[in-house]
Amino acid sequence: MKVTIIGAGPGDPDLITVKGLKLLEEADVVMYADSLVSEELIERAQPEAEVIKTAGMHLEEMVETMVDRVQQGKRLVRVHTGDPAVYGAIMEQVTLLKKEGVSVEVIPGVSSVFASAAVLGAELTIPDLTQTVILTRAEGRTPVPEGEKLKDLAKHHCTIALFLSATLTKKVVKEFIDAGWSKDTPVAVVYKATWPDQKILRTTLENLDEDMRVNGMRKQSMILAGWALDEHIHDKDYRSKLYDKEFTHGFRRGVKA
Ligand code: SAH
Repeated sequence: MKVTIIGAGPGDPDLITVKGLKLLEEADVVMYADSLVSEELIERAQPEAEVIKTAGMHLEEMVETMVDRVQQGKRLVRVHTGDPAVYGAIMEQVTLLKKEGVSVEVIPGVSSVFASAAVLGAELTIPDLTQTVILTRAEGRTPVPEGEKLKDLAKHHCTIALFLSATLTKKVVKEFIDAGWSKDTPVAVVYKATWPDQKILRTTLENLDEDMRVNGMRKQSMILAGWALDEHIHDKDYRSKLYDKEFTHGFRRGVKA
């Protein structure tokens, strides 16, 4: 007995993996969080498939339904937005399913963090500037463990991707400034990356809160902060060692200039 959890990608139905789509198309039962996953993607399921919207269901209800259907020998897929491994709340489902003797397979998806970078045309790791990306969230109703507060993480001065933080920008800005970030640090925000109503905002730490408010970006937004998001990065000559002609690596011998 098995449930397959599939990453749907950020919104554009073409951004699911080939493997994920195949399993969705073969499924007898499709469960998904409506509003976060595109209807157009769910329509790829077989016409006779049972489609269950989970937004109004609590955890036990969801798991009960899953167990019931797989016990009937049905192929069940649970479709999650982006990649299930980040803020997907899958572990609580997996734990309960395991107790019922149901195994779980996860098919990865394109996370909104990478879809946002793509629509911005940004590389999150720029040689000599930053080689690290932190995926995190601001602390709101959901507490963040000690040592993972934004003001501590921001001390690394790397690229920081903020999920679930669009209503907490005042706090975000304060913590970054407390960590020593300059007010003119570039910040890019993508609302509903890859959806037809996607919006892109390029701003600075100083103007982030006001600009997001004015542009109505208070939900489903990815905030990417740090100098890798500098719009004028092309004017600066950052180069990776990988393509440097003097750099020898596994596939190519470097030549001395
Ligand atoms: N597993 C998802 C994240 C779920 S948490 C993923 O990998 O993307 C929900 C948060 O993800 C939202 O608050 C927002 O910060 C971000 N998010 C999800 N889809 C998005 C999209 N299409 N555009 C921008 N941000 C998105």
